Parts: sequence; structure tokens; C-alpha cells
Amino acid sequence: MNTMSVQLPEGELTFEQDVQMVMSNLPVPDPCWRLTDEQGHEHHYASGPDRYPTLTAKQGDVYWCEDCRDEHQDSWYVCRTCGERITPGTRIDTTPRWLGGPALYYLNGKPISQERANELLTR
Ligand SMILES: [Zn+2]
Ligand SMILES: [Zn+2]
Repeated sequence: MNTMSVQLPEGELTFEQDVQMVMSNLPVPDPCWRLTDEQGHEHHYASGPDRYPTLTAKQGDVYWCEDCRDEHQDSWYVCRTCGERITPGTRIDTTPRWLGGPALYYLNGKPISQERANELLTR
């Protein structure tokens, strides 16, 4: 728990936030990924806005999933030249991250809204 207090003419404003370190453990694009497809076209990861300059992203139709009770849409990549379906390499991201929960504000121990806190602080 992170706590910060400031003294204002109106009283003591306290800011509280739950922070915790999490490991995402989610697959992220592997910057070292390289692949040569069946036709000999080379594919790789690029750090620019066009992440896979030799691939085209395709999206399937939106379909309803009974398990999640939500809509899904599959997406995949194909070679820009021959259309072969390519799965770019990924790696597991183990970088720890600080995640903040919702922030809470108190004036003299009484909960107040974030808007009110901002108002008091910017006065
Ligand atoms: Zn689902
Ligand atoms: Zn190809």
C-alpha cells in the first residue's frame, strides 16, 4: 500500500493506492524471430510501427463463443508474397511490472472522489 499525504487549508489530503509487483508471463513478440517460408521468403520482426513488414495481418469473421459468452475474432498472419500462413515467434515476458489498483482519496480521513481531490490540489 502506497500512502501520501499533503496538508491543505481544508485539512489533510491522503492518497492511497494498492501497488503490487506482477510478472505478466504473457507471450510477447520475439525480436530475434526469423523464419524462411516454403517459397524461400524471409520473415522477421521489425521494431518500427510495421512490426512484420513482410507479413499481412488477416482477420476472420467475428463469432460468438459460448464458453466466454463473448465475441471472438481470430487473427493470423500470411506471407505478403505467397500467402502462406506464418506464425511469428513469441517469447514469454518475465519483466516484473508494478500494477496500481484504484486510487483512494481521503480528506481528514473521510473518503472523497478523485475529482474532488484534484480540485483541492489544483486550487
Ligand atoms: Zn471463448
Ligand atoms: Zn512466402
